[in-house]
Amino acid sequence: MWFWSKKTPAPDLVADLRTAWAADGRNEPSPAADPALAPPGGPLVDGKTYYETVLPELLRRWETRCFCANPQFLKLASFDFRDYGISPTTLVDTEALVSQIVLKRFAAQGPWTKQSDGGHRHFCCPHCGRDFDVWSEEYSIAMSVISAKPIEPIVRADIGRYATSYRYFAGLEREIAFVTDYRPADSVQKYLDDLSA
Ligand SMILES: [Zn+2]
Repeated sequence: MWFWSKKTPAPDLVADLRTAWAADGRNEPSPAADPALAPPGGPLVDGKTYYETVLPELLRRWETRCFCANPQFLKLASFDFRDYGISPTTLVDTEALVSQIVLKRFAAQGPWTKQSDGGHRHFCCPHCGRDFDVWSEEYSIAMSVISAKPIEPIVRADIGRYATSYRYFAGLEREIAFVTDYRPADSVQKYLDDLSA
């Protein structure tokens, strides 16, 4: 018999959820994403605080040296819910790092192109010249995801340490249990230092 726990996500959990949706006459999750819900352990800061206090300090540090070879930055920037077989989910940290650093401070290489999984565009870091593939897709008015991965593989941290929290479709917080390689950072100071080391 299978016992579900946070540490060992049940591989049939998503299938069970989909069965439940179908039984309810729903084929897709509710479009009402609920950014207020937090995973076990809780966020260090909410999204507003992150954008107002944490991100500006990261951007200040980025001006002198990029984070492209930093395993922790790569881990956070590349969060991709598809790795876990779950419904569309995003980390607020990932959205902020990709939208504010890669999209705004890197040089776009060519236009957005529509591929089978959504939009892709390459961006080049002005500090180190590394190229990143940014993937973005919109699943509802309230749920779009974005992720950036280096085109030439660079070692990522085994565990991503985030400061904020996940956004996902309402009612699907249990799916977060599938994501075992991202956890809250110990402190904002440690988060900043690890990301910009
Ligand atoms: Zn760089």
